[in-house]
Amino acid sequence: MPRLSLDELTAEWQHHLNSVPEQIKQLTAQLAVQHKTELATHFYTAMLQHPEAAMFLSHEEVKSRLSSSMENWVCNLYSSQDTTDIQSVIAHQNKIGEVHARVSIPVHLVLRGARLLKHRLAELLGATLTPQQAAMATNFALPLIDLAMEIMSHAYSASHDRRSRAEESYRLFAITQNIASEKEKQRAALLDWENQLMFDYAMSMTADQLPRLRSSEFGLWFRHKGTHGFEGAVETGLILDAMAQIDDTLLPLFALRANADPQKNLQLLRDVREQTKSIAYHLDLLFEQNNELESGRDVLTRLLNRKFLSVVLNKQISYARDTSSSFAVLAIDLDHFKHINDTYGHEAGDLVLQQFASMLLNKSRAGDYLFRMGGEEFLMIMVDVNANNARRAAEKIRMLTAAEVFRLPQDVTIHITASLGLALFTGHPDYQQLLRRADSALYEAKHSGRDQVVVAPD
Ligand code: GH3
Ligand code: MG
Ligand code: MG
Repeated sequence: MPRLSLDELTAEWQHHLNSVPEQIKQLTAQLAVQHKTELATHFYTAMLQHPEAAMFLSHEEVKSRLSSSMENWVCNLYSSQDTTDIQSVIAHQNKIGEVHARVSIPVHLVLRGARLLKHRLAELLGATLTPQQAAMATNFALPLIDLAMEIMSHAYSASHDRRSRAEESYRLFAITQNIASEKEKQRAALLDWENQLMFDYAMSMTADQLPRLRSSEFGLWFRHKGTHGFEGAVETGLILDAMAQIDDTLLPLFALRANADPQKNLQLLRDVREQTKSIAYHLDLLFEQNNELESGRDVLTRLLNRKFLSVVLNKQISYARDTSSSFAVLAIDLDHFKHINDTYGHEAGDLVLQQFASMLLNKSRAGDYLFRMGGEEFLMIMVDVNANNARRAAEKIRMLTAAEVFRLPQDVTIHITASLGLALFTGHPDYQQLLRRADSALYEAKHSGRDQVVVAPD
């Protein structure tokens, strides 16, 4: 979806500023500064009456932090003068839109907030300025809120799109294909094309009569469905490159065949075969990766991969809210893991990671979620726990890790330790805040000597 560029938005904003007398802009900006606290308070008081909005706003931290950012927001909106100001205001609207998307705040609530603000602002302008000034100031002030909302909404939907695109494209792929049989079918289709090429070549077809991979059964499938289902994978690009190499570079050279050196032709055929082999190889990789993607699992440890972290956390947040229960996030990082790789080799390191992951799986409750965040970092979401249970469970994992005997090849056994950061859900609607708290706690555990659990303050 083509978006208005930053320059275009800036120009629109500037155009609106230019259409208003300087004095009116100054009066509006002054009024915004004078009444910023009142406007923010009005906004929150009214929004908190709305039960759905209250869910997003009633957290203490949200209240205190957002009140001041709401004040700044109002002031900044009317104080921008030059291009730099405008661009920073626009960038800010984009950021707000992204936060809204992450928290999944419904758009209608954002619009409600904007309406409340506009209403109160118009009242204030009417009460302080002469009727003529008030009319001009209102025409200046309200459309700027609309413009800000427009930018915010755009960032919101773009961010939303980004998140759902990967899953959606896979779903579409999965609906239109039977993945398991598709792999065999497409491998066979690729071979069919290769056989046809050899046959046509033997029949002395000219270069432009030779079958192009692109328009073969396989080529059509890959270009239309494969690229969609495997969107974003490096292998997809490699296959497209190899296809272009065959069709556009190698096959046209066969034109010279009649009077060409047979050795050269043989070499061409070998080159085509090499490219085809590489396509088949990358295709296998793509299908393998997608198997993992399908289950959302990490290849090495079979734990969940971080792709679904936001989905799970948002689900837990609304569940906790609806049932007045709590949950906790436990960030785990193995201690001095680099040392294990350095001493016993990377493969031994992999074995340790696998054994650690299965220990986590065996010792946690079935309702908990286990993620491999990457490297030797793991994350556990403990459902339905209070602060005490969560702390005890974390401590148990720490002790089990230290007690576990990790088995490496050639009867080598080693011991490891882990550092853990625990954060209990406090009601804050943004899951990033929860992850940040768990991370800082983990950081502290590392810095106070490792092999310990640190609980994040509320
Ligand atoms: P500490 O966390 O205690 O500060 O030390 P560390 O050595 O564990 O810290 P760091 O996070 O800097 O290093 C992590 C190392 O884990 C880096 C890399 O060698 C190793 N690692 C990351 N992913 C993998 C993997 O998939 N397999 C193996 N074998 N090693 C990995
Ligand atoms: Mg690490
Ligand atoms: Mg580590």
